[in-house]
Amino acid sequence: MSQRTRIGTTVLGYPRIGPDRELKRALEGYWSGRIDESELVTTGRKLRQDTWRELAEAGLDSVPSNTFSYYDQVLDTAALFGALPERFTRLGLSELDTYFAAARGAPDAPPMEMTKWFDTNYHYLVPELGPETRFSVAGGKPLDEYREARALGITTRPVLVGPLTFLLLAKPADGTPDDFESLRLLEPLLQAYAELLRTLHDEGVEWVQLDEPAYAADRTDAELEALARAYQALGELQHRPAIMTAGYFGDLGDALGVLARSPIEALAVDLVSHPSAVDRLASVSGVQEKEIVAGVVDGRNIWRTDVDAALSKAATFLGSARHVGVSTSCSLLHVPYDVNAETHLGERLRSWLAFARQKVDEVVLLGTALREGTDAVADRLASARAAATDRANATDLRQHRVRARLEALRPEHSRRSDYAERAKAQQAALGLPELPSTTIGSFPQTSEVRKTRAAYRAGRITEEEYRSAMRAEIERVIRLQEDLGIDVLVHGEPERNDMVQYFAEQLEGFAATEYGWVQSYGSRCVRPPVLYGDVSRPSAMTVDWTSYAQSLTDRPVKGMLTGPVTILAWSFVRDDQPMAETARQVALAIRDEVHDLESAGIRVIQVDEPALRELLPLRSAEHKAYFDWAVESFRLATSGISDATQIHTHMCYSEFGDILPAIDAIDADVTSIEAARSRMEVLDDLDAAGFARGVGPGVYDIHSPQVPDVDKVSEQLELALNAVSGQRLWVNPDCGLKTRGYDEVEPALRNLVTAAHQVRARRGVASG
Ligand code: GLN
Ligand code: ZN
Repeated sequence: MSQRTRIGTTVLGYPRIGPDRELKRALEGYWSGRIDESELVTTGRKLRQDTWRELAEAGLDSVPSNTFSYYDQVLDTAALFGALPERFTRLGLSELDTYFAAARGAPDAPPMEMTKWFDTNYHYLVPELGPETRFSVAGGKPLDEYREARALGITTRPVLVGPLTFLLLAKPADGTPDDFESLRLLEPLLQAYAELLRTLHDEGVEWVQLDEPAYAADRTDAELEALARAYQALGELQHRPAIMTAGYFGDLGDALGVLARSPIEALAVDLVSHPSAVDRLASVSGVQEKEIVAGVVDGRNIWRTDVDAALSKAATFLGSARHVGVSTSCSLLHVPYDVNAETHLGERLRSWLAFARQKVDEVVLLGTALREGTDAVADRLASARAAATDRANATDLRQHRVRARLEALRPEHSRRSDYAERAKAQQAALGLPELPSTTIGSFPQTSEVRKTRAAYRAGRITEEEYRSAMRAEIERVIRLQEDLGIDVLVHGEPERNDMVQYFAEQLEGFAATEYGWVQSYGSRCVRPPVLYGDVSRPSAMTVDWTSYAQSLTDRPVKGMLTGPVTILAWSFVRDDQPMAETARQVALAIRDEVHDLESAGIRVIQVDEPALRELLPLRSAEHKAYFDWAVESFRLATSGISDATQIHTHMCYSEFGDILPAIDAIDADVTSIEAARSRMEVLDDLDAAGFARGVGPGVYDIHSPQVPDVDKVSEQLELALNAVSGQRLWVNPDCGLKTRGYDEVEPALRNLVTAAHQVRARRGVASG
């Protein structure tokens, strides 16, 4: 290896959906046949080129490439190494269409599974690997992008998912035994990486980045040993670029030492999520030979960096490492493009924020300060400090009433009586049959409904017109459910664009952005609100709609709220106080809403927590602290009511293992969960964890357009009855119905109710 330049200043990745979501529109246009491949490719190229130019002009020493993706970087990696499942490659489609088939499915070829990227709200496609998998360098994307940037005069650093993270994120391919260990594929995969690195080296690539965030989670000794083996082997290659390995989303723990001792050139570490790693890392052996790229600018949140704290973290390595670089803590994929687009936010709030573009400037600023001394950039440091001071002193962000109320509340929150008592009171109040049926909340959001909401927002229709249109929709949904014979009804949520944004817009302490889109998966983006101050609820948020729905029917209508954890998970949250404190404030607002719903005569209230699993820390040592505040916030939100009011919650993901104790501890009367795809296995797990309250395992998968037939649903219910008594078992779909059409939902729900009736009849109980 010859002497090379250093990384210096860089970012680990950049948004790619386009400042105005250009890629989203192009992708959807291509999928629907409105534009052809060349138009899509042109859009992609322009976005990549704009990004490289912007990053180079901002003054970064090292500009990343291969951070663009038409769908997902893990899927890109599978395609790059020829590891797309055969059900897609045998379709005879073009390279691009094969790739999209893997992401979105094709007739008779269900898509690859999608799951959350660590503890973020980004989703990747899960590689499917087995003993038959053969790796090769099948794609040219990293090389092509490198050349494309070079043609603009910009030298880049190709970014790749690292070999261990790729294997550890994979699942056994169809027909492979469940205990197949993907690490068995490490040697052949390393050969493919070696070939790729050689090609890149021959092309003149100086640096590559290999991402290994999988090591921010708990890993076994065998997995650490595999990491050591892999980076020893890659490091020893004769023909390769310099390697920077990046670990982020947490502390790399023992992997830090492993990487520091391996013969690679640079190590990028996340010093934002776990600042304590700083001291440990400085004393790890092997660091003296490395460039440490200090991830001191938060890649996941949108606040301006505390420049002094960041500088002192980076400076820790000045004596110990060979060189010190400055970077973001992780890829900027998780933040929007540019805060300057948010003109309506107000000068002051805006001055506290940094989106991707501003974070690049922060990295450059910190790099200059580190290299040339703080005097060289005194003015810009001073203005960063002034904004930080202004934010810290912003007394109007504090609401004394909220803080005083929280002080006054007991630290432990519980319902008046235990579950057995409550269940009796609820049965007396509701008189539900065994295996009661319900839905998760939303009904199909027809284009009519969406248009009406848009027209109201744009001021094209009056408030009165909007209200009566929504009421008509609610009435339609109520009549439909009565007609179907559902036992506990919902109003259908037609007034909600999004289950977090709807509440954020009505709560104080939140601000909405206009262009703050962040990729969630593929072409899908979300626009998380900014939670910047103390939270309070100026007035009731859902009572009007819910009580209108209840006025139309004798059956109970279920009030529908989003829980504190989910509201935090899907917002950009203030970083100036512990999450636990912010969660308590949100919980208090929800508690008031729960109270008002109860006062308005609503007897069943659901508080959704679909993100409870998402915020679970990657390391098990931190689980307890998380559960403590997450559970407490749910209980705070739901405990201020009478025994007879029934609290439901809903969670939707299939990996429940780690959070079973929390599901029990939140003490909801009824919990609905995703289960259709896991054949009710989750019920046995709940049982084993001692869970003994009401449970509604989803009996049909709403993510699929298929209408389940009566027998299929009955079979699921019978299966469920093996684990749960008929008194505790609820009958419901997997999740909300808003993304489906009525042509699917109506027959599906009809079959669901029929199945419930059949099973009740078989058990010899009358239907309600
Ligand atoms: N009540 C919400 C709905 O039905 C729940 C959505 C969710 O679980 N993500 O749409
Ligand atoms: Zn759900």
